[in-house]
Amino acid sequence: MKNVKCLKCIKCGKEYEALPDATTCECGGILDVIYDYDYIRENFTPDDISSSNNYTMWRYRPFLPVEEDTVQPPLRVGWSPLYEEPRMAEKLGIRKFWIKDDGLNPTASLKDRASSMGVAKAIEAGYDTIACSSTGNAASSLAGNAAAAGLKTYIFVPERAPIGKVAQLLIFGANVVSVKGNYEETFELSKAAIDEYGWYNRNAAINCYLMEGKKTVALEIAEQLGWEVPDYVALSVGDGCTIGGVWKGFKDLYNAGFTNKLPKIISVQSVNTCPINRAARTGEPWEPMEENTLADSISVGVPRNPDKAINAILESGGIPVEVTDDEILEAMRVTGRECGVFGEPAGVTGMAGLTKLCREGKIPADASVVAIVTGNGLKDTANGIKAAGEPVKLEPDIDKFRAYYESLNK
Ligand SMILES: *Cc1c(COP(=O)(O)O)cnc(C)c1O
Ligand SMILES: [Zn+2]
Repeated sequence: MKNVKCLKCIKCGKEYEALPDATTCECGGILDVIYDYDYIRENFTPDDISSSNNYTMWRYRPFLPVEEDTVQPPLRVGWSPLYEEPRMAEKLGIRKFWIKDDGLNPTASLKDRASSMGVAKAIEAGYDTIACSSTGNAASSLAGNAAAAGLKTYIFVPERAPIGKVAQLLIFGANVVSVKGNYEETFELSKAAIDEYGWYNRNAAINCYLMEGKKTVALEIAEQLGWEVPDYVALSVGDGCTIGGVWKGFKDLYNAGFTNKLPKIISVQSVNTCPINRAARTGEPWEPMEENTLADSISVGVPRNPDKAINAILESGGIPVEVTDDEILEAMRVTGRECGVFGEPAGVTGMAGLTKLCREGKIPADASVVAIVTGNGLKDTANGIKAAGEPVKLEPDIDKFRAYYESLNK
C-alpha cells in the first residue's frame, strides 16, 4: 500500500506493519492507520476523485488502506445523498443545514461503510469467515456485505436488538447468536469465540481498518459540498468509532491539501448513557454507565473506542451534548415531517442534539451544519410508532370519514 506508512498505537506510539488482519497493540491500545499524505498529495487531486464514476465509498481509494488489486465488495455502499434543508435551517436559526442520509446504504445504516471495508480486508487476508458483536447494525451490515461477497459470518447481538435488525441477519444467512446479556457481555463473548476459532474480526474496537471505512462519510460530505467543509457536523455516539472516523476523514482531506478547514464535531449521546461525553466534558477518564436509552444503537455503557472519540471532540473544538429519549422521539418526528427522512432513534440523535444546542443559542446564526442520519427508521418501527402515534381507525363508511374529516378542520 503506497499510501499507507504503518499502523500506530494511539496509546504507546508503537508502530506495526499494516497487515490486513492486524488487531490491537501489545499494550492493548487501538491502532491507527498512518497515511503518507505527501504521496497522496503528489499523486491525486480532488478533481481526480470528482471525475470518478464509481459512485460508492470506494471512489476514495487514495485515502483507503487497501492494496491496489484488492477487490471492491459487491454491494453499493456509500455515496448517500446530502440534502440541503433550508426550512430546517430557518427553524434551527442557522445559515445552512444539510442532512446526510446514511440510512440509504444497502443494509440501511452507516455501518455498511465499515463492513464493506472489513469484507475487503478479510478477503485480502485470505479468510472465509468473519465475525463481530454488535448492538445490531454492525451485525446486519456485516451479514449483508459478507453474504454478497460469499463469506460466512458468526454474529453476536444482545437479546434486546430490535427485531428488524435480527430479521436482516437471518435473511442474510448469518450464524446468529442472540446473547442473554447486555452489549458489554455480548462483546466479550464474541472476542472469546473469535480468539478460539480464528475468524476474521470485524469489531471496530479491535480492527483499525473499519474506522477507515466509516471515515468515507466525511470525505463524501466534503466532496458533495464542492470540497468545502461545514462549520459543524452533528452525529450520535455509542462505541465512538463513527465519530472517530468522521474526524479522521476530515483530517485526511486537510492533511492532503484537499480542503483548507476542519469542522467542529457535535457528539450526541443519551442523558442516561453518555460515558464519552462525560469524559470529554470533565477531562476525567471515562467510566462505565448503565445502558439505558431506547436508541439501541448507541446504548453503549462501556464504549470500545473512547480514546479516538474523546479526541475527536476535544481536538476539533467540538461540543458534547446529551438528549432524552423524548427529545430523540421528537427528532424522529421532525426529521420525518420536515425532511422526509425516516431515521431510527440513534439515527436521528445527532439531529436531536443539534436542535437542543440551537434552542440553547450555542450554535452561531451564521453557521453551516451537517447532521448525519446514521440508520434507517424501518429497522425499528416500534419506536417509529411511539414517536408518531397510531393512525385513526375508521369503518369503511364515507359518513364516518366525513365526520372525521370535519373534526380535523374545526
Ligand atoms: C453504531 C451506530 C451509531 C454509533 O456509532 P459508534 O461507532 O458505535 O459510536 C450511531 N447510529 C447508528 C444508527 C449506529 O448503528
Ligand atoms: Zn501500544
